[in-house]
Amino acid sequence: KDLQTQLPQGIRWNADGLIPAIVQDVDTREVLMLAYMNEEALRLTLQEGRAWYYSRSRQSLWLKGETSGHTQEVVELRFDCDRDTILLTVRQKGVACHEGFYSCFHYGVQGEGYVTLGAPEEVPAMPLGRTMELLAEVIHSRNMERPEGAYTAYLFDKGLDKILKKVGEECAETIIAAKNSSAEEIRYEVSDLIYHVLVLLEERGVSLKAIAQELQSRRK
Ligand code: AMP
Ligand code: ZN
Ligand code: ZN
Repeated sequence: KDLQTQLPQGIRWNADGLIPAIVQDVDTREVLMLAYMNEEALRLTLQEGRAWYYSRSRQSLWLKGETSGHTQEVVELRFDCDRDTILLTVRQKGVACHEGFYSCFHYGVQGEGYVTLGAPEEVPAMPLGRTMELLAEVIHSRNMERPEGAYTAYLFDKGLDKILKKVGEECAETIIAAKNSSAEEIRYEVSDLIYHVLVLLEERGVSLKAIAQELQSRRK
């Protein structure tokens, strides 16, 4: 038998031979949906790197997105401690919910009824931490590849002193923006500052993870 099709041992299938999969967006870390897999769905998901489920209502295998085109590219598949739940981290094409919402969890409770949370098709903004991680990845690749005409590559070509000068300038501009008390200006200058700080961290080889750990260690 093909090694690829072997499933890990000790999976705790429920009485119907299914296992629930919690599906999470890799970019926003939002919970998108919950669905069930049977053996075949799990095997196909591992083989193809696309999410397959078992539809309990239709009693059949179901490739997520087969009719809507809203497929899920699997970034990571994990099991929980007692192997009775899967966590699928995906890159979602379109929206996860067949009701047209980004996440299936769009019903808030109001008395005996429900209120719809969020607009259809509305993708929530990525959290700042995740946004910075993705930007840091782009900055890292600019450092490695140094493409012609890219501003970030130019900064690395010029070296540390140039980067430090830019960080200093952006600090000063942030101060001026704050003194002017213009929210738009502050937003712009702080974004510039954060970008240049990320360039500095890349140049000095300090990871965002290290910064996150330092900040977290200070929490009382
Ligand atoms: P899709 O897989 O997106 O092409 O949708 C095909 C069918 O699967 C839909 O008509 C629904 O019956 C069902 N479906 C799709 N997405 C979901 C979901 N997030 N939760 C439950 N059922 C879904
Ligand atoms: Zn569990
Ligand atoms: Zn849904």
